[in-house]
Amino acid sequence: MKDEGKGEAAEPHDPDGEAMTAAMSPQERMRAFAEMLRLRMAGHFVSVRSKVVFLLTMVGAILVILSGAFTLYDFNHALRTQVEIRVSGAADVLTIAARRANSFAEMEPVLAAMTGAASVKDVAVAGADGRVVTTSNSGWLGKRVDMAALAGDGAGHTVELGRLEHLSGYGTYPGDYAIRLELPRLGTEAVAILRMDTDYLAGQLAMQAWNTMMWLTITVILATLTISLLVHRVIVAPIEALRDYAETGGETEALPAGPDDEIGIVARALSDSFRANRDVEARLTSLAATDGLTALGNRTFFKSRLSEEISRAERHGGLVGVMILNLDNFKDVNDTLGHDAGDLVLRRTADILKGCRRGGDVVARIGGDEFGVIVTDIKSADDALQLASRLVRAVSVPFRLGTQELTQGACVGLTLYPQDGRDADVLVKNADLALSRSKHEGSGACVLYRHELHLRAIERNTIERDLRVAVARNQLTLFYQPKVDMASGRVTGAEALIRWRHEERGFISPAQFIPVAERSGLIVPLTKWVLDEACRQNREWQELGLPKIGVAVNVSAIDLKRTDLTDTIANTLIRRGLSPQYLELEVTESMVMQDVDVVIGTLRRLRSLGIGIGIDDFGTGYSSLAYLKRFPVKRLKIDRTFVNDIADGRDGHVIPKVIIDLAHALGVSVVAEGVENADQYDILNELGCDEVQGYFAGRPMPAAEFEVFLRNSPAGLRAGAAQIEASAEKPVARPAGGAASRGSAA
Ligand code: C2E
Ligand code: MG
Ligand code: MG
Repeated sequence: MKDEGKGEAAEPHDPDGEAMTAAMSPQERMRAFAEMLRLRMAGHFVSVRSKVVFLLTMVGAILVILSGAFTLYDFNHALRTQVEIRVSGAADVLTIAARRANSFAEMEPVLAAMTGAASVKDVAVAGADGRVVTTSNSGWLGKRVDMAALAGDGAGHTVELGRLEHLSGYGTYPGDYAIRLELPRLGTEAVAILRMDTDYLAGQLAMQAWNTMMWLTITVILATLTISLLVHRVIVAPIEALRDYAETGGETEALPAGPDDEIGIVARALSDSFRANRDVEARLTSLAATDGLTALGNRTFFKSRLSEEISRAERHGGLVGVMILNLDNFKDVNDTLGHDAGDLVLRRTADILKGCRRGGDVVARIGGDEFGVIVTDIKSADDALQLASRLVRAVSVPFRLGTQELTQGACVGLTLYPQDGRDADVLVKNADLALSRSKHEGSGACVLYRHELHLRAIERNTIERDLRVAVARNQLTLFYQPKVDMASGRVTGAEALIRWRHEERGFISPAQFIPVAERSGLIVPLTKWVLDEACRQNREWQELGLPKIGVAVNVSAIDLKRTDLTDTIANTLIRRGLSPQYLELEVTESMVMQDVDVVIGTLRRLRSLGIGIGIDDFGTGYSSLAYLKRFPVKRLKIDRTFVNDIADGRDGHVIPKVIIDLAHALGVSVVAEGVENADQYDILNELGCDEVQGYFAGRPMPAAEFEVFLRNSPAGLRAGAAQIEASAEKPVARPAGGAASRGSAA
């Protein structure tokens, strides 16, 4: 508490400071005050207007003070003049009266007459000894007057005495005068004392002085106001306009362009700089919205124009069509013909689209090989579709590129305002969805957005989100489906098929979530896990003394393109202690046909490790037979659709037969997938197929069930097939036990 008190008291009380201030001269104090004011004001913005008002007020105040001083001086001067005129008159009268006087008493009437005048208050005559002998003021009689001031002066001379302290009734103005008199008839000298009524005279002059003062003040105020107005007009207003102009970056209308004074010059310099800035900004904006290669607008431009068109359509009604055109396999053009050729193709496409556009249509390049078109002058979705297919046809016309003739296919996704969305982002997203669909449908397709596409996209997103969780929480398992050798009836292998039991939705088919995993990149960890688990399981079965079989793992196109696939697989085999001959990879035919050279390299490396390669779904991917010869393949898997048809029509067996013969000619073994009944089995057997996989041989089953199945599978399959047909056509997954039970399992 004590300390607090001390602290509070210490700040305001500064004895040293006070002592110093006390020791300062007035000039030093003024200087210190000015310095303090400067420090206070520094850092505070004070507008020109305030400064001018302050300065003019100061000037006005100083002028008013000067007028006051002048008036006072003038008043004093006038008063003194008036007093002196009257004193000299009185001196003349007294001098004459003294010359004629035979006694001091004879002067009394003169004195009385003088005091009757308005300006003389009192008058007295003192003898040579300085004593007052006759006076109008009875109080003075007999008093002594100091005569020293008059010594040496001649008669009739007037001397101003100021205040005669020892004479009573002294007024406000020092109006005491002494006059030396000679009284020849009495043969003596005397001194007359005059006391003037200065108050009366001052009262007479005061009115005049006030008038002067008033006029001067009015003049000063008027002059200051006039100067203020002029300064405002000539300096303050232009500076303020300049400030507004600068603050708004040249947006304000009135530019203080005045004559060529300093403000005008600054204003012009500012205006030039603003204009230059605006030009640069406009150029940057236009560059930021333009695609350098095709000189079309880019995605930003496209979206902003789309927003404009939407607002216009909101006001005036009408449809707005949004199309996204994508060039088919544009990457191949870049990869095979080089980027210059790719650029040419893009420029050609831009030119074609520009050529096809009608009045208000907007064309932009919104992605590497994607072009956006906004169409406004349409009446229906059909109009938009027609326009889209016209664009696709125009782009797809064959053209020459150097020595080569090229055909660049394209497809379009399109969507309409207002039915599919009311916002630029939504419409672009919908057009994108429609485009994905049209890519799926194949070259030349034009797909109009439908709500199902959106629902499907949402579904995909949900699956992706849940799948991430499932991967993290180990909610995935592997099922195994047996492959059976037709000649011996033995289980020679198993295909590992992934299963996901969703917490709420139950089993989700891999056909549903594998594409999502591929698109999201989740497929990479997923495949690693499948490989690891399949190898671990196979090794475990071998350690349990079960017949040694190969386990097949499906890999996706994404996996196949990864350069680390070989390493991942080799590491997995080492970690799980499985010999490579018991691992097989299933790749689909369509997968190997993309980037053939890269894929062949990867497959060869894998093959050289001793891993078997099987081509899945064979017959659906239009693979070139020439390539087939180059693939280091161990097995071809006839697609289920061919097996399905095999027993039906008259020529259902033709394609399987061709595949089997071809494979055998190339020294590759054949497995038929999706074999569901004995008829199919028999026909395949007749055609010389090596192995079968399908419900007839055994459904995909959990590892534990498969273990039992494998343990009991020494006998031939066909032995049990009769039983399947006899017991139930319905293929049911059940743990198999020997040939008979295997039949019933199917
Ligand atoms: P896939 O590799 O062709 O696998 C065969 C599919 O046919 C499996 O479907 C299997 O359950 C089914 N199937 C087997 N026998 C029959 C039959 O007699 N009749 C019928 N109608 N179908 C039969 P699933 O398990 O639903 O797998 C679908 C596809 O998902 C697989 O086709 C494969 O491409 C992919 N897939 C499954 N597991 C994985 C995996 O671990 N990784 C990758 N990348 N893809 C996988
Ligand atoms: Mg497969
Ligand atoms: Mg298959």
